Amino acid sequence: MFNLIKHKKLINIRTFCTKNNAYDVIVVGGGHAGTEACAAAARMGAKTLLVTHKKSTVGEMSCNPSFGGIGKGHLLREVDALDGVCSKICDLSGIQYKVLNKRKGPAVWGLRAQIDRVLYKTHLQNEIFNNTKNLDIIEASVEDLITENGDVSKCCGILLADGTQISSKTVVITTGTFLKAQINIGLKVFPAGRMGDASSIGLANTLERIGLQMGRLKTGTPPRLRANSIDYDKCTVQGGDDPPVPFSFMSESVWIKPEDQLDCFLTNTSLDIEPIVKDNIHLNKHVAEEVTGPRYCPSIESKILKFGGRIHHVWLEPEGFDSDLIYPNGLSCTLPEDLQQILINKIPALEKAEIVKPGYGVEYEFVDPRELRNSLELKKINGLFLAGQINGTTGYEEAAAQGIIAGINAAAKCLQRKPLILSRTEGYIGVLIDDLTTLGTNEPYRIFTSRAEFRLTLRPDNADLRLTKRGYDMGCVSEERYKRTEMVYQKLSEGVDILKSRSKTVSKWRELMGIESSVNNMQRNGFEMMQSGSERITVESLAKVEPTFQKLLEDSRIAQRLEIEALYHMAIASQAGEVEEVIRDEALLIPLDLDYNSDSLNMSLEDREKLIKIQPPTIAAASRIPGVTPSAVYRLLRFVKNTT
Ligand code: FAD
Repeated sequence: MFNLIKHKKLINIRTFCTKNNAYDVIVVGGGHAGTEACAAAARMGAKTLLVTHKKSTVGEMSCNPSFGGIGKGHLLREVDALDGVCSKICDLSGIQYKVLNKRKGPAVWGLRAQIDRVLYKTHLQNEIFNNTKNLDIIEASVEDLITENGDVSKCCGILLADGTQISSKTVVITTGTFLKAQINIGLKVFPAGRMGDASSIGLANTLERIGLQMGRLKTGTPPRLRANSIDYDKCTVQGGDDPPVPFSFMSESVWIKPEDQLDCFLTNTSLDIEPIVKDNIHLNKHVAEEVTGPRYCPSIESKILKFGGRIHHVWLEPEGFDSDLIYPNGLSCTLPEDLQQILINKIPALEKAEIVKPGYGVEYEFVDPRELRNSLELKKINGLFLAGQINGTTGYEEAAAQGIIAGINAAAKCLQRKPLILSRTEGYIGVLIDDLTTLGTNEPYRIFTSRAEFRLTLRPDNADLRLTKRGYDMGCVSEERYKRTEMVYQKLSEGVDILKSRSKTVSKWRELMGIESSVNNMQRNGFEMMQSGSERITVESLAKVEPTFQKLLEDSRIAQRLEIEALYHMAIASQAGEVEEVIRDEALLIPLDLDYNSDSLNMSLEDREKLIKIQPPTIAAASRIPGVTPSAVYRLLRFVKNTT
């Protein structure tokens, strides 16, 4: 039995679905999740269609003009390792590149770049529209889904606003902040998914009708300021790195010369802005709403209401080379426009700053991500995948990371391949998806390095070694990238062998390198010498005193990776046991048809209910469900082992 959820015209859908199986994968929405999803599916050879409201907004950066940061930079490297598009585009569009957290170890360095919005969109659109085979794009609004009802409902296409039906084997929805979205500025409220873009109401109704658990979240954006109305002399200058570090493993360098990078500037709020916020709460609908906003990217109103009596940083970030707009990062605001102007002018350096576009807030619906399997396919609807902000996350990088996985898995389903499931031990993408699908979220979720248990192994520098082969085996990584990764692996192995091939006493090494030391006659090879000590011993410093190592200086990126490998070698070895244990747990899959009501399971009703609701794919996932007791997990483990 075929039916069209909600829509009245139930005509000939059976014929349409069976005879005109036009596409393997349809991706709805051309944001950061959608572009990765459609590009990945197309790379795998699936016949793919991207349907999005406007071609001109494909790759639109709805809020901040930057990509990356702590944790987010890790995701970008992982998306890149799977041959994703956004990292390569960042290397072509940045106006300033800076690695954050440099004072800490390389495991938690955060690659970040200020991005020229126009360049980003131009390059991304060129990639998607002109350089991606197997991909068609149409500009339209998807209002409904076509489903086939069997034991489990199956999604077999979409319905557009003009009544056109397009069938497909799978659909990936990536509609971001658009579901039943409304914009708030002061007391003004109007439906919109983002300023200038319509809200998506039909599709939200469809998802509700399917019976998915939905929630509501909110976020906001700061006013944009005219660049030449700011007094930069009152600010601290923030320059970029020299040399800038590329995001993509395939980029030798970024497009911009170090000296041409644009500066950012830092100022602070003053206490004078507090009364403007506090005295006007009644005029600020967004703040008064009881919808949850982003904890880690709060509005200036939330900061003042939560931490009164403090001043807060404001980073002034250029929006691009040819833009005369400045994005005041930290000043997300939903006061009425005239009050936003007054507030801005109370901030040092912004006394004469002119608002070109006011800040605003957006409230939108999201789907409880516990409705999803870890492949990002819905448990309730076969062939329907969700990715991006629709799953309760916030941020371009989180969206891109989910998008690439949903695109790969939608294509894999059509091509009858197993899905790509990344575990928590393999990548931040695995952590993100596991957190979402097992724990759910009641506030906009963003990634942090602290969310990963295995930070020492999940580093930005080694994402290619962790993931490229997995992607290649799925068919979403090019031969060129795969070969390059193999070559890197080989060079690193050879490099370690070379470093291990020469040993001396610790005292001798240190004496040769001119480092003071007490007598230490332990024999150490070059690799071991880089593992310890308060002074940083580099490949370069070793090569100066040991000619055999000089060939390692031919490739500075490999030399740096060797130093990082050495630095973490000992710690990783001691972590290996833990990783193995988790892998063992994770390897134990829970059958999809497991009978949680079986008497043999012998667990409380509460535990059963939670497990039935979440349907954890693995024992490890079951153990992370809040409230499920360790004894229930143990019983489940025994039950699975005995019955499978
Ligand atoms: P989006 O980038 O939103 O893309 C969704 C796409 O789907 C759009 O192209 C849209 O046109 C299309 N679409 C929607 N419905 C349909 C339909 N029915 N048919 C066809 N196409 C459709 N992130 C942060 O990390 N920090 C912040 O402070 C922050 N503030 C934000 C403030 C605002 C006002 C907004 C709007 C977003 C903010 N974000 C912030 C979120 C960030 O923009 C998103 O995380 C990111 O863009 C999500 O990517 P996505 O691909 O999931 O969705």
